Amino acid sequence: MMAGQAETPNLEAGNPFSEPVWETPHGLPPFARIRPEHYLPAFEAALKAHEAEIAVIAGATTPPSFADTVAALERAGLALDRVASVFYNLTGSHTNPELQAIERTIAPRLARHGSAIYLNPALWARISAIDPTREPLSEEEHRVLERYRTRFRRAGADLGEEAKARIAEIGARMAELGTQFGQNLLADESSFTLPLTGEADLAGLPPFLVAAAASAAQERGGAHTHVITLSRSLIEPFLVFSTRRDLREKAYEAWIRRGEMGGPTDNRGLIAEIVALRAERARLLGYESFAHFKLADTMAGSPDAAMELLRNVWTPAHHRAIAERERLQAIVQREGDNFALQAHDWRHYAEKLRRAEHDLDESEIKAYLPLDGVIAAAFDTASRLFGLRFDELTDVPRYHPDVRVWRVSNADGSEVGLFLGDYFARPSKRSGAWMSAFRSQERLNGTVTPIIVNVMNFARAPEGEASLLSFDDARTLFHEFGHALHGLLSDVTYPLLSGTAVSGDFVELPSQLYEHWLEQPEVLRRHARHHRSGEPMPEALLGKLLAARTFNQGFSTVEYTASAIVDMTLHLSAAGEDGLDVPAFEAEALRRIAMPAEINMRHRAPHFAHIFAGESYAAGYYSYLWSEVLDADAFDAFREAGDIFDPETAARLRKFVYGAGNLRDAREAYTGFRGRLPSIDPLLRKRGLAA
Ligand SMILES: [Zn+2]
Repeated sequence: MMAGQAETPNLEAGNPFSEPVWETPHGLPPFARIRPEHYLPAFEAALKAHEAEIAVIAGATTPPSFADTVAALERAGLALDRVASVFYNLTGSHTNPELQAIERTIAPRLARHGSAIYLNPALWARISAIDPTREPLSEEEHRVLERYRTRFRRAGADLGEEAKARIAEIGARMAELGTQFGQNLLADESSFTLPLTGEADLAGLPPFLVAAAASAAQERGGAHTHVITLSRSLIEPFLVFSTRRDLREKAYEAWIRRGEMGGPTDNRGLIAEIVALRAERARLLGYESFAHFKLADTMAGSPDAAMELLRNVWTPAHHRAIAERERLQAIVQREGDNFALQAHDWRHYAEKLRRAEHDLDESEIKAYLPLDGVIAAAFDTASRLFGLRFDELTDVPRYHPDVRVWRVSNADGSEVGLFLGDYFARPSKRSGAWMSAFRSQERLNGTVTPIIVNVMNFARAPEGEASLLSFDDARTLFHEFGHALHGLLSDVTYPLLSGTAVSGDFVELPSQLYEHWLEQPEVLRRHARHHRSGEPMPEALLGKLLAARTFNQGFSTVEYTASAIVDMTLHLSAAGEDGLDVPAFEAEALRRIAMPAEINMRHRAPHFAHIFAGESYAAGYYSYLWSEVLDADAFDAFREAGDIFDPETAARLRKFVYGAGNLRDAREAYTGFRGRLPSIDPLLRKRGLAA
């Protein structure tokens, strides 16, 4: 719990970031005392403090050792980590124009700071000269040293002065562009609403959706009684249930045009510049393309390996989607209409087909998935696998009244960390769902326990009623909670290796694997209970829900895989082309894979925040599928053991995956757990795409 002290000299006493330790419960940030005007001075002071620490490390004249170089680097920058983690959590989940202005200023400054470290010749000379055979290093320390060297090389440490200067320039510009991309997207998402006025506009909507649309209207100031926003948990059910084809089209068009609406929030120009800069940097570093650069340090290893997986899945998924389309078109005809099915129709007719084929009704399922029940299911699964306990804390600082906080402990009572859940959509939150950390686990600066947050965008129920989740929402909650466990269970010494700091195509294993438990009858029987009566989900409904699991998988796999292929294609072939015409490039890439016109990419480029608001998923969207090969195979280990909570399998899973951070290379970690590498077959079976 006691973190190393985050000394920040030269900071006004009233600024909460001037306090080396926060005397709050569990060291949570004192949110109520932190005001927007505190951030810039805190960043400036923390940057200066870090620069001074780096200067000492780089300027040492003794022969370099691991302890005085790498470990010293790992101990440095605590104040900066602290202010950055509070700031960037809030710009994602609860932002405002003041924070956005600071973000635009600080992003390029932070990028330049990072470049100055990685391109510092004296520092690199010392790291290169460490002779690991001359001091006793632990296995973890060998790994940290190796990761540092790789990171410095990949950041350009070996380049000449001119190339280094250009790399720093590119980094700063890309930080600006990524920030702007995210802010534009949030502006488009929070400015659009589709008002529903009168009964006719509500046609087909089940009560939960009418209530959610009323809540959203209220949150937006109440100019209308009901609105649909571009939040996925509102717009997706609207596209499913609304019988007003004209309104579905209107809502859908706005949804897929996010970031592409013209005017100052249009993202297309930014994308062209980002893609060109990434390609230029990759060339400076000696790679053929950004994709080659990116994949070189992943489990997949090369764009070819990733593309091969995508193509292997694309072909059966495409076949399946075409067959699905024919069946949906047949329903249109049967109902006496003769229009050709379009993208804004797909979800609506798929739901009709699902009801016909599986006798399954989305709103019937939701009644058994109240948010609290799904949270309890996620916690209970963690208890049964890893012996964890969750106790809710009510009297602790939080950044928004919606945020809930739990103390997480081991079976023996020892503290694991804190878990924060921030579940509902609001205009100050970006779209999507994610896990993040206010504090990451490590032992180098004292015993630091993690503070992990899950942020969701579920639709809020009216006052006094339970918020009901769709099965997809419940899966998202399990997914992000799997990431949260990866952060919470982390058991490493060095911050560099902590929690989710693993290869991009391995990081979705803990999250996607966790989704499997939600789909187990044993878990649903225990936790899927009616929000009013508390009755368990009837066996017949449970059976139908599970039988329908692979329903519409052609559609889902196609919309995902198309996004991943376009991401990779953009980063493979747009090398250095100035003035990239983004929509034309996207259209051409989709034409080459014969994308069905009735399906869109899950994320079109102008709102593909994964790959443009930051870099971690750039040429990396394939990683969900790559990780799925692993998770499908990994869950089979529990099946083979004959118990989905088998203690020995769970212990291996904790040791090599959830608790291991980046202690081992991804292949080694997986093999440690499973005894071998996986094959693609369990994935194809899971998606119902096996031949
Ligand atoms: Zn994830």
